[in-house]
Amino acid sequence: MALLSRSQYQERLQNVRLLVTDVDGVLTDGSIYYTEQNVETKQFHVRDGSGFYIARLIDLPLVVITARSSAAVARRFSELPVHALVQGTFDKVTACADVQRQLGIDDRQVAYMGDDLVDLPLLRRVGVAITVADAHPLVRQQADWITGLAGGKGALREVVDDIVSARGLWDRVMNDYETRQGGASDVGFGREAD
Ligand SMILES: [Mg+2]
Repeated sequence: MALLSRSQYQERLQNVRLLVTDVDGVLTDGSIYYTEQNVETKQFHVRDGSGFYIARLIDLPLVVITARSSAAVARRFSELPVHALVQGTFDKVTACADVQRQLGIDDRQVAYMGDDLVDLPLLRRVGVAITVADAHPLVRQQADWITGLAGGKGALREVVDDIVSARGLWDRVMNDYETRQGGASDVGFGREAD
């Protein structure tokens, strides 16, 4: 794979009907904290959270697949409109294929975001292989596209915004925000939308 030009990337995104993402290093900066009670915690970005609502608004299912398993991740995605959350699987290809089968979506219609070697098999299969600015160098070498933002800094939102642009759906998104009170934050928007 070689990096796509911006226009090639936009063209590929027009066909995307399923967005799949890794957690650690994409939705987080990769840090994992342990409290004195041995509880694992992570930090998420609120603009990525809004990205989940925007994805729902444009009828784009968003699936989260992670090799790790933690209560913090379960908690975060319990409050976001995620189509599916798959924790504790190293076989991301099979996890993604299961969702694709349910939805009737072929590989070319999938965009996947991953940052490390465990993500390469799935990145090689999908229509748009996306990684983050600070991903592992071997992943950056094989990606179709590298976000301007680093993991945990709004990279998923960047991709959702790119899909909205590619499909010409900004009017729909802005209309929705403008007709909601307190629609700017992901919490407010979520409460209103649910
Ligand atoms: Mg990762």
